[in-house]
Amino acid sequence: MESINPTVLFIGVEGLAYLVILSLTLKRRGFAEWPVRLLVIYLATASLWCVGQAIARLDGVDAAPPHLSWTILTLGLPVLAFLFLLLTRFVLRLEGEGWGWWIAGALWLGAMAVLGFNLLHLPDTIEWGNGWAVQYDVLAFTFVPVLGWGSFMGGATTLTLLAYRRIRQPLHRNRIKYWALALGATIAGAATALLGQPALGGSFYLLGTFAAAYVLFTYHLPDVRQMARGLGSTLTSALLAAVVYTTGFLLTLYAFQNVPGYTPLLAGLTLALVLVLLFDPILRRVRQVVDRLFFARRYDSGQTLREYSASISNILDLERLGTVAVGLLSEALDIRNGSLFVVHYAQDDEDSIVFHLRSVGGMGPEVPSGRLSAASPVADYLLRRHRPLTQYDVDLTPAFQDVPKAERKWLQDMDMDVYVPIYAQGEWIGLLALGPKASGDRYFESDLELLSTLADQTAVALENARLFDDVKARSVEIELLNDELTTANRELARLDQAKTDFIGVASHELRTPLTNIRGYNDILHGMIESDSLQKETALELTQGVGKGVQRLHEIVNTMFDVSRIDTATLDINPLPTPVAPMIKAAINGLTEALAERKQRLTTEGLEELPTMIVDNKRIEQVFNELIQNAIKFTPDGGHIWIGGRLLNAELPPPEQEIEFIVADEGIGIAVEDKERIFQKFYRVGELMLHSTSKTKFKGAGPGLGLTVVKGIVETHGGRIWVESPGHDEENCPGSAFHILLPVLARVSKTCSSEGVAAARAGMEH
Ligand code: ADP
Repeated sequence: MESINPTVLFIGVEGLAYLVILSLTLKRRGFAEWPVRLLVIYLATASLWCVGQAIARLDGVDAAPPHLSWTILTLGLPVLAFLFLLLTRFVLRLEGEGWGWWIAGALWLGAMAVLGFNLLHLPDTIEWGNGWAVQYDVLAFTFVPVLGWGSFMGGATTLTLLAYRRIRQPLHRNRIKYWALALGATIAGAATALLGQPALGGSFYLLGTFAAAYVLFTYHLPDVRQMARGLGSTLTSALLAAVVYTTGFLLTLYAFQNVPGYTPLLAGLTLALVLVLLFDPILRRVRQVVDRLFFARRYDSGQTLREYSASISNILDLERLGTVAVGLLSEALDIRNGSLFVVHYAQDDEDSIVFHLRSVGGMGPEVPSGRLSAASPVADYLLRRHRPLTQYDVDLTPAFQDVPKAERKWLQDMDMDVYVPIYAQGEWIGLLALGPKASGDRYFESDLELLSTLADQTAVALENARLFDDVKARSVEIELLNDELTTANRELARLDQAKTDFIGVASHELRTPLTNIRGYNDILHGMIESDSLQKETALELTQGVGKGVQRLHEIVNTMFDVSRIDTATLDINPLPTPVAPMIKAAINGLTEALAERKQRLTTEGLEELPTMIVDNKRIEQVFNELIQNAIKFTPDGGHIWIGGRLLNAELPPPEQEIEFIVADEGIGIAVEDKERIFQKFYRVGELMLHSTSKTKFKGAGPGLGLTVVKGIVETHGGRIWVESPGHDEENCPGSAFHILLPVLARVSKTCSSEGVAAARAGMEH
């Protein structure tokens, strides 16, 4: 029987090894997830690739060039490299569809097929011009496939390097290191095979594939740094021991060689004994030195614990507790960011519990507060397991696959490495979130144990601070309520005063005309009885009665207006109104009073004003009221002035406004009264000192006039305010009431009518 070539055997066995990994994968993980499916395809392709090469290498198969085994090797590589690239994307958890990669892969495979089957009918030698020529075989079965392989593996390497640079968390970085190992072995394997060592190259390739499968299915990979550290210190100490041993041996040889009974064996044995005794302490010492030299300083757990408890036990302020606790931990563990959270239990819309985690302080960039639903695996873990949780676990382990998107994003955005729950009497009350260590080390088991103990120490302080915080919040609440109560009381007192004023004013105001009416009526009655009534007297008396009734009517009307303003039911009926005649009408009603008080009234600029769309009766009422007040509060012989000017004349009518001023030379208004005079029943000075006369100097009415004026102006979309240097009855500084009215009344909906719209439309065009 012919003997089989060892290379063939080797490659064949490698092909079978892929099948073994494949069956193990299927057994452990099924075929449901995408990374597994990809790996299975990858393994099947690799197996076929090896077996194909082995068969092609059998005697007689691989006759003429292009050799079949070479073709299988080169054509298989880009396919495998493309699959490896896709696997890399899964391992690095790169988001997005990555359609670009799929298209690139498909194009390359297409190009290889076109060339492989020579669909372009290329000649055996392809001339490029300039004397360059390439063999068709080399182009189709070496050049293009190897370039494809190079591009895909280059892509995978770039992605891996970028991810390593981007990701800070040590556990993730550790995983990437393993992937880089798999990537390196795969590239080395392919390169070795291409360089003519298919068996050796194949075994590297197999190693790379094995490493890749290991990384894909193992979450808790041994720490590369830790292993390097262990190896470093073991090698260093072994080297040191060898140096000591050799030196000792040479020295004893030199010193005791002339001593009778000396044998090198005995000397060697003695030295070995000394070394064994010394080796252990030396190894430990060397480890410490290596640790200190290459890695972050180590902390003393006992001391950290003591310092921590002593520092935080008396802190009552939540924010300070967070800052101090995280600060101490950051010093011990060499971390840059962290935060303390307080956990509040609440219920969501569906009555299930949610945990609100409020960040109360810490170090590094501020982190937002967040919420975890009771159904979330993260909350479940923190609530029940009483153990720290790493972000790496949340990111990768299947137990946390169902973490809701928002929670996952919140956790990832915080850039933390480990979460340590804090419990008080079995209840979850807080969370310490700590960022990655500055050294780049992961949190080792010993760190996590220390953190759990420290979290227990934090519980009492956190509980106290929480209670204190509650008390503080309550007291702020109570203070606020107190303020509200005081304001409400003040308002009540004001209302009560207003009511008293109203009764006082109403009785005072109503009594005068009533008394007059009664007086006239009594006289009329007496004269009729005594039959002494003459026509002129009767006329005079009924006129007196009429005046009283008129006054009563006015007062009741004003009260009615106020109530309508209060309930926003004041109806206005805006129509095109020329300004000057309207104001003239208001003045005409008061000429008698002006004459009586010997006052002069002048107007300015009213003729030039454009026609307005307003309720002319109501605006007339406004001017009537203001002029009446000016008459009342200006001494005899004073001057009253009414002016008006158009504002925003350059804009279209809807944007234009007219500012009116009613100014007098009266007693003026104090600064503190400028707002209040527009309130209901507000009158400056003592109530009973007011005269009820409509025109008498300082004779006030019921204190409702300006309230109605303001209500009417605002219903038209305008504004009213008063300017005055102050109240001075001696020097009479005067006051000026400013009224700003839109040329086209901006009537609120309740008051607008179709007429307004039509009138406005007419004005605008
Ligand atoms: P009344 O019905 O008493 O006139 P108003 O509401 O019209 O009430 O005015 C309220 C108060 O504002 C008046 O009592 C008066 O003290 C003050 N006041 C109004 N107009 C003037 C003015 N032109 N000059 C000085 N004080 C004024």
